[in-house]
Amino acid sequence: MRMHTAMHLLCSLVPCGVTGGQVGEEKSRLDFDTGDYQADKQALTDQLNVLVDADHAVTARWITEAELDAQPELVRTMSVQPPRGSGRVRLIDAGGSAIDLQSCGGTQVKRTGACILCLTISRSF
Ligand SMILES: [Zn+2]
Repeated sequence: MRMHTAMHLLCSLVPCGVTGGQVGEEKSRLDFDTGDYQADKQALTDQLNVLVDADHAVTARWITEAELDAQPELVRTMSVQPPRGSGRVRLIDAGGSAIDLQSCGGTQVKRTGACILCLTISRSF
């Protein structure tokens, strides 16, 4: 949960689509389609620490599939869509929609202050 919410915070700071990822107990990974975006490890680390130190609330809520269709930006993953058929989709709101609001069925900590951070950036082509 601590890693997963940290991934949401990272996702909120990188303006690129998510192409993959893996959440583990000691190490997690998010893959982005970065194009021309150049990640600055120190800047991202500083921004992540600001979000963690602010100890924002992390909450879940539900919207209808139609509401999701009207806001496609709520799905950050490029190839995986949230499951459909029940008529509703779960959203995670990490620190308010200005920080991160996206569809997610995973488990989260209740506050950003509980996130684990140690950022490494690697680039593959
Ligand atoms: Zn998630």
